[in-house]
Amino acid sequence: MKQILVIYTGGTIGMVKDAKTGSLHPFDMSRIYEALPVLRELPCVLDSYRFDPIIDSSNMKPEYWVKLACIIEENYEKYDGFVVLHGTDTMSYTASMLSFMLENLGKPVVLTGSQLPLGMIRTDGRENIIGAVEIASSETVIIPEVCIFFEDKLYRGNRTTKINSEYFEAFYSGNYPSLAKVGINISYKKHLFADMPSNKLKVYKKLDDNIVIVKIFPGLKEEYLKSILSMNGLKAVVLETFGSGNAPTEDWFINCLRDAIDRGIIIYNVTQCKAGAVVMGHYETSTMLAQIGIVGGYDITTESAVAKLMFVLGNYEDKEEIYRMLNTSLRGEITV
Ligand code: ASP
Repeated sequence: MKQILVIYTGGTIGMVKDAKTGSLHPFDMSRIYEALPVLRELPCVLDSYRFDPIIDSSNMKPEYWVKLACIIEENYEKYDGFVVLHGTDTMSYTASMLSFMLENLGKPVVLTGSQLPLGMIRTDGRENIIGAVEIASSETVIIPEVCIFFEDKLYRGNRTTKINSEYFEAFYSGNYPSLAKVGINISYKKHLFADMPSNKLKVYKKLDDNIVIVKIFPGLKEEYLKSILSMNGLKAVVLETFGSGNAPTEDWFINCLRDAIDRGIIIYNVTQCKAGAVVMGHYETSTMLAQIGIVGGYDITTESAVAKLMFVLGNYEDKEEIYRMLNTSLRGEITV
C-alpha cells in the first residue's frame, strides 16, 4: 500500500458548514476518511498534516513556502507521495515555487483545492481530492513533479494560471499540455513527465522577495514607473509586456528601464498573454528591450517568473549565473 501525506494549508476546499449555524468553518483533516469514506477504496494509506493556523491562500508568503517545503523534506522518505490542499487563489504561485525549491524531486507532489467548500452538496472538492490522491498513489506511474490536479486535468504546476473564479475548470496551462486527463480512466501522458532524477532530493529554503511585477498598459506614466524602479532594495522586476514581449518605444520608458539595469536590477520580460512566448527582437517594439539588457522570459507564466526570481536571487549571487538560470529551463517551466 502506498503511503500518502495530505497537507492541508487552508482555502475553500477544507471548509464545511456548521450544521447549527450554517456558517463555514475549517474541516478537521484528520477525519478525512469520515468525510470521504470512498478514499478507503484506493490502494493507499493517508496521513494528514494541517497548517496551524490554516491560511486563506491570499495570505500566502515566502515563509509559508519554506514551511511547506520543510514538511515535504521531513516526510520525504516516509511517504510515496504528497497531496497539498490549498486555496485556489495563489495555488499556481505555490506550485511554481515548490517546483524550484524541490530539486531532484522523485515523488509526486499534487496540489488541489476547490471552488466550492467540501461541505457543500455540489462541491468540486470531493472529486478533486479523490483524483489527486489517486494520482499521487498510482501503482502504474510515478510523476516526479509538482503538479496541480483540478476538475479533470493534471497540470505541470509551474505552467498554470488561475483563470476562472467561478467555474470548476479554474486552471489553465497555455504553454504545456496536461500531464493526465481524468475521465472513465486516467490517461497519463508519460512522455510529458519530467525525468526521474538520479540524485537525491535537495530542498532550497532561501528566497529573496525583493521583486515587483510591473504590468504595462497604454497610458503608463513615467512618474509611476520611476517610483517603482527606485524602490529601496529592489533586485528584480517581472515586466509584463504586450504580445510577444512588446512595449512602448518612447525614450522615457527605455531610459527608465536602462537606468534600473545600470543599477543592477534584473528586468524579466514576460508576456501578458495566457499562451505564447516572448520573442525579443521580433518586432521593433521589443528590439530596444533586448539591446538594453532585459532578459526574455520565453513562455513563462507570471506566477512562475515571480517564483523563479525569488528562488534564483535567494540562492545565487553571481549575476552571470542568475542570467544563465533565467535562460534555462530548471523544472520544465519554460520551452527553450
Ligand atoms: N480565497 C480562497 C483561497 O485561495 C479561495 C479558494 O480556496 O478557492 O484560499
